Amino acid sequence: MRDLWYSEKYEEDVKFSVKVTQHLYSEKTPFQQIDFFDSKTFGRFFTLDGFMMVTEKDEFIYHEMITHVAMAVNPEVKRVLIIGGGDGGTAREILRYKTIKKVDLVEIDERVVRLCQQYLPLTAAPFDHDNRLVLHFQDGLDFVQTAKNNSYDLILVDSTDPIGPGEGLFTYDFYHHCERLLSNVGILINQHESPYYESDAYEMKRSHAKIKASFPIAKVYQFHMPTYPSGHWLFGFASKKYDPIKDLKSDKWESLGLYTKYYNTKLHQGAFMLPTYVKEGLENV
Ligand code: SAM
Repeated sequence: MRDLWYSEKYEEDVKFSVKVTQHLYSEKTPFQQIDFFDSKTFGRFFTLDGFMMVTEKDEFIYHEMITHVAMAVNPEVKRVLIIGGGDGGTAREILRYKTIKKVDLVEIDERVVRLCQQYLPLTAAPFDHDNRLVLHFQDGLDFVQTAKNNSYDLILVDSTDPIGPGEGLFTYDFYHHCERLLSNVGILINQHESPYYESDAYEMKRSHAKIKASFPIAKVYQFHMPTYPSGHWLFGFASKKYDPIKDLKSDKWESLGLYTKYYNTKLHQGAFMLPTYVKEGLENV
């Protein structure tokens, strides 16, 4: 039998490939193509339109970094909005905080949620077990356009890239409404692409310029994501009040006793120290 490989093209002449032990499921929804695979090294993983989303082996890195950075800056967060995040990993991490009262998760494609419940229970667990989580199957841009001012303390944008259904989540309009929805101590964390390959770096700069125009504090932090292009990925941190380093509450966060495999408060500070070429790229927007 011939070997089966999942391959993702990063540049015209660069590909990332994982040997697949089984192609478990494939479906085309009105929004995107969804595929689930098994592999030896990365365990089970799923892709949307041929782009890697979540693998069992490295999902903890992405999901810890999208949630705990903001929570260590403002551990008083109670009302959370997640845009995207249909695999459930971001909801799982944020719901570890007992102080969180409500999480609205707005996912455009219900099939992502239902299939992750079936194939990726590691991330989809909160969909069945936590009644603080409310699911809305709707476009994220439409949701923020109609939500009320001052409804959230934290918004986490766990989206796909700015092509296809995710495009509207990288616009001025979207960031402007996020600012409006947040309380005066609110924080926005968003999937901020990679600085490395040219097309991703272009999107990184464009998003940063738009977020800077909407928030008085707009920073970017980095983490290592083995299965995303180049392995070097970014989140944006924007706030009306908090600086992610000056306002970090290490003692308070550590007193919560949450075990994290990637995140810690020393790494938190280091994550905002960007390589020179990334800093320069972000300064010139
Ligand atoms: N960690 C992943 C990454 O960066 O590759 C993101 C994973 S998460 C599964 C992304 C989710 O965003 C998908 O389930 C997709 O359906 C959802 N999504 C894309 N565009 C959206 C939109 N406009 N509104 C709400 N959800 C959206």
